[in-house]
Parts: sequence; C-alpha cells; structure tokens
Amino acid sequence: MRLLLVEDDPMIGEGIRDGLGQEGFAVDWVRDGAAAETALGAEPYAAVLLDLGLPRKGGLEVLRAARAQRNDVPILVITARDAVADRIRGLDAGADDYLVKPFDLDELAARVRALVRRAEGRAEPVLRHGAIVLNPATRAATLGGRPVALSAREFALLHALMARPGMVLSRAQLEERLYGWGEEVGSNAVEVHIHNLRRKLGAGAIRNVRGVGYTIAAE
Ligand code: CA
Repeated sequence: MRLLLVEDDPMIGEGIRDGLGQEGFAVDWVRDGAAAETALGAEPYAAVLLDLGLPRKGGLEVLRAARAQRNDVPILVITARDAVADRIRGLDAGADDYLVKPFDLDELAARVRALVRRAEGRAEPVLRHGAIVLNPATRAATLGGRPVALSAREFALLHALMARPGMVLSRAQLEERLYGWGEEVGSNAVEVHIHNLRRKLGAGAIRNVRGVGYTIAAE
C-alpha cells in the first residue's frame, strides 16, 4: 500500500518512512507543500500523512487545494503538541484524522489502516473474499482457515485486488499501488507476484482479463 509522507523535518521524516516501510507500506516522502501537490496530482496514494508547518506551501493550503479538486484520499495531519487550533482547522479543512508529535509508529500505522479501511468502505478490519481472508494489521492471510505465507508485495497486490472486488486493475495500476519512488520494479514483477499468488491460493483465485489486467475471481 502506497503512502505519501509530507514532512520537512529530516529526523521525523526518516523515522516515519523507515517505520512504515517495515510495516509493509511503500512510502514516498516529500519535504515541502509544493512537492506534495505535484505528487498528489500524479500518484494514486492509499493515504497521506501531512505535516502542517511546511516550506513553500503550508499543509493547510495543500489540504484545502486537494479537497477543492475533489481528491478524496484519506489525509492524516501530523502537528505539534501545542497546535490545537491548527488541528481543528485541519479537520475542518477536510483532514480525516490527526496525530500529535511525538507519536508512536505502531499507533500511526494502525490509524493509517483505519483510514484506508473506511475509504474502502469496510467496517470490518479484515478483508474476505470467498475462502481468502486478509488481515492488514498482522499481514496474515488464510485460505479456508489455513495460514498462507505471502511476501509483502504479494500481500499488497492481493489487498489491492480484494479491496475492489470485480474491478480490473492493469499491470501499471498495480505497480503504482505497490511501489514507491526509487523502488526497482522488474519488467514482469506483477506477473511473477500473480503467478505466486495463484500457486498459493489456487489457479482460479485471480482472473486475467486479456489486454486489460487482473481481478479477483468471483466468489
Ligand atoms: Ca514542519
């Protein structure tokens, strides 16, 4: 799952990027508001972590512009402890949640999962499709109740498909959702992950729509 991190403090930014990376997220990190707007216009992020005090363009301005453009990506604002008024302004400007620095990385990851879950229209924390169950919090998958070992990318790919049952995602769309900037994407990486998922979940689990892309098979 791909996230945009907007944070100008190098220590905090690095901590969040590395911490969420270990939780299986692909994190693109920008350090000012103008770069955030460019990234938001170009990539399909699952969620955005937005600092408010930013060079070149403030976080609130980025937030208002995104909502004015009908961008409904979940946005979590990260603010300083004493900035109550900023948090209120952020929520009223269209932010979905906020966290006060310094925060616990596990809590941040849990809040991101909750935002994504709501954006996907789920109340239940796990995703189910037929006999397949995915738990984003533990990154565990089961098939008919039995554990299935998936790599981080295989899990992310399956999550992308299961979050939108019936929707066909092209190879390019899947790559965009799985890989952040600067990550090496092999030319047939998606095909390899699909092959491995079919081997582990059954050949019919993922359907190939010729010339279009992939979709989770009907239940
Ligand atoms: Ca800042």
